[in-house]
Amino acid sequence: MTRTIELRIRRQDRPTAASRWEEFSLPHHPNMNVISCLMEIRKNPVTRQGTTVAPIAWEASCLEEVCGSCTMNVNGRPRQACSALIDRLGSGPVTLEPLTKFPVVRDLIVDRGRMFEGLKTVQAWIPIDGTYDLGPGPRIAEPERERAYAFSQCMTCGCCMEACPQFGDRSDFLGPAPIAQVRLFNAHPTGRMNAEERLRAIMGRGGLADCGNAQACVEVCPKSIPLTEAFGELGRQTTGLWMKDLFGR
Ligand code: SF4
Repeated sequence: MTRTIELRIRRQDRPTAASRWEEFSLPHHPNMNVISCLMEIRKNPVTRQGTTVAPIAWEASCLEEVCGSCTMNVNGRPRQACSALIDRLGSGPVTLEPLTKFPVVRDLIVDRGRMFEGLKTVQAWIPIDGTYDLGPGPRIAEPERERAYAFSQCMTCGCCMEACPQFGDRSDFLGPAPIAQVRLFNAHPTGRMNAEERLRAIMGRGGLADCGNAQACVEVCPKSIPLTEAFGELGRQTTGLWMKDLFGR
C-alpha cells in the first residue's frame, strides 16, 4: 500500500484576512522534507477534500539551513522547512503555520522586518566603508575567535524571537537575536570602538532588562547559539557602563 503524507496548513490570503486551515494528502517519497511537500502541492494544489485552491505561498532560498527564510512553525515548533525531514516528524499529520510573532504577508510568508530593524538599533555591523584597503585586520586569539564564530552563525531566522515570551506586538523588546549580536560585534577589535553605542541601545526600553530569562530562545535556536551566555555577558558590560556613567569615568 502506498504511504501518504497528511498536511494541515494554515492559510491566509493577505495581511488583514482571517486565516483558515486546509488539508492536503501526498504520496510519500524517501527523504522528503517540508519544502519538497510544498513543491508537490504547488504542482497540483488540490485539497484532501478535492477542492482546487491557490498554490501555497512560502519563502525559501538556500535550502541548507543557512538563510533562515523558510522558517515556519512545523508541528508547533519554529524551525526551517528545508531541514524538517518528513520521516522524522512522527506518524501523524504534519502541521504548518506561519510564525506568530511577525505579521503574515501571505500563507507561510511573514514580514521579519522588525528583527532587522532591531539589528539596526544595536548597530550590528563593523563600521568600515570599504573605500580603501585596510590591510590585514587585527589578530583575534583563538579562544575568542571560536566563541565569536558561534554568534556569527546567526541567520536571523526568527526561531528565538518566536519562542521568546517577552517578544511580540505588545512589547518593545528587541528580542534575543539582535541583542546577541551586540556580544559578537563588541568583542571584535574594530567593532569594540562602538561598544558603548551598542550597549546604550540595549540599556533602555526594549533592551536587555526586558528579558524574562525564560531561556526558550536557546531551546529552539537551530544553530545552538549560546544566547543566554550572551545576555549574561552583556549584563556585565552594561553594568560596567552604568557604573562609569554614575561615577563619571
Ligand atoms: Fe535563528 Fe538562532 Fe539567530 Fe535566533 S539566534 S535568529 S534562532 S539563528
